Amino acid sequence: MEPPAGTRRLYRGGAVYSPADPFATAMLVEGSTVAWVGPDEAAPAWTREGDEVVDLEGRLVTPAFVDAHVHLTETGLRRTGLDLSAVRSRTELLDAVAARARPGELLAGFGWDESRWPAGDGVPTRAELDRAAGGAPVVLSRVDGHSALVTSALAEAAGLRGLAGWDEDGRVRTAAHHAALDARWAALSPTAAQAARRAALEAAAAAGIGTVHEMSGRWLAPPGDLAALQALSRAEALPDVVGYLAERVEDPEQARAVLAGAAAGGAAVAGLGGDLVVDGALGSRTAALRADYADAPGERGSLHLDAAAVAGHLHACTRAGVQAAFHAIGDAALAVVVEALEAVAADLGVPALASAGHRVEHAVLADADVVAAFARFGTAVSTQPAFDAHWGAPGSLYESRLGPQRRRGAHPFAALAAAGVPLALGSDTPVTPFAPWAAVRAAGFPPDEERAVSVRAAFLAHTRGGHRLAGLGHPGVLRPGAPATYAVWDVADLVVQAPDRRLSGWSTDARSGTPGLPDLGPGAPEPVCRRTVVDGVVVHDDLRGAR
Ligand SMILES: [Zn+2]
Repeated sequence: MEPPAGTRRLYRGGAVYSPADPFATAMLVEGSTVAWVGPDEAAPAWTREGDEVVDLEGRLVTPAFVDAHVHLTETGLRRTGLDLSAVRSRTELLDAVAARARPGELLAGFGWDESRWPAGDGVPTRAELDRAAGGAPVVLSRVDGHSALVTSALAEAAGLRGLAGWDEDGRVRTAAHHAALDARWAALSPTAAQAARRAALEAAAAAGIGTVHEMSGRWLAPPGDLAALQALSRAEALPDVVGYLAERVEDPEQARAVLAGAAAGGAAVAGLGGDLVVDGALGSRTAALRADYADAPGERGSLHLDAAAVAGHLHACTRAGVQAAFHAIGDAALAVVVEALEAVAADLGVPALASAGHRVEHAVLADADVVAAFARFGTAVSTQPAFDAHWGAPGSLYESRLGPQRRRGAHPFAALAAAGVPLALGSDTPVTPFAPWAAVRAAGFPPDEERAVSVRAAFLAHTRGGHRLAGLGHPGVLRPGAPATYAVWDVADLVVQAPDRRLSGWSTDARSGTPGLPDLGPGAPEPVCRRTVVDGVVVHDDLRGAR
């Protein structure tokens, strides 16, 4: 959407996070662009009659956040489907299904997480689920989206028996899981899909997010979903949608053909991949590990792609000048990605590989070798600090799955940042909700301090870093000439984080010219979004009724 022509809006009396002026208290926006940032005292020289003047009353203005890994339609569906995220036992899950199931009608549920149930309380069997559902087709996605529980009716309708990943107990993984998701998407009406898209984008806007990277593809979304999301984003006052398509290619011609085909269908694709899965997830024990799962001897997850397949895609994308992206979580999956990067670098050269700006999603168990390889090959990481906050603490899911030692090596934010690996932050919503400050806090204050990055580094990764990974030229900062894509926040105190062993050259002296950020230390309140603006268009507004 275009802002009304000639609109000029002056914000004053707050704090503006800008590299152009670390002490800025005011910002002038003209149309879709930042026209000026500076001190209140200088604002009159820049304003003229008819400008809208907004008194910030001490609020903070920052660039809007970029959520670099989302599944919008799936997120929106949570609002209409059966939300199982609060379920705390198998009985509660079965009761929830029994309360919502209707004969013959497909019921989709989401978000169960048995790692939060009492010890020994396993997931229900297919027979139990059939009884609770009264024979209805039901598919219940695990919180990580990498496995599901299905009823016999759903298994029958989707032809799941005999597919890889089918378990007689009704738990589906890999191919059987994908077929179950296809059946679920097929049952979704166009009206319901559109309502889900709008609901998700509105939720992003309300969280201060101006841009999302939608990880689209088969099983992940219904056909035509990415084009529909981008059309909606253009037609209404909603955040921008950068598109990723999880389609694997084998040569540059095929890469170009996929992009051209997407464009013909109305979708702009920034990269080929995203949730192009090398492995699964730790919660579902489908992430590929080099050693056994601590809580399942003999199990190491599974690889969906080998190094030759990953290298083939990387090679084709690099030659076509297209960004590639892979989902890789386990150390064995990340080793496959590194082996593939090395093969492509040997063939095409490091500069060609690095300039394509490929990215890896999650990279949870990246060890020192992986971090060094990513730095060497200019490969970026799109990470989800909320995973670490939810499952990374001692005694949580990662420790069950990995044991204490491997758990400590998960999400090496500090090592990635120190090596110069380009970083972006995201939620993987619906796995975790849109909550950008919580992500910044999670990376700044993880369960193990040696993995922490500064709040400023995390904040920059969640704003500028996201734009940088998309490679579309958006600066992601508020300075004259930049797109007017920003958020206004209620904040308590702004602080410059004290220097500690994580930081070098960081001064608490105001004269150092470092803009302040909200205090995100443990116990400090999170900023509350009051307005989100994308290219000058207000996409979320809670400011007019402000005190
Ligand atoms: Zn994802």
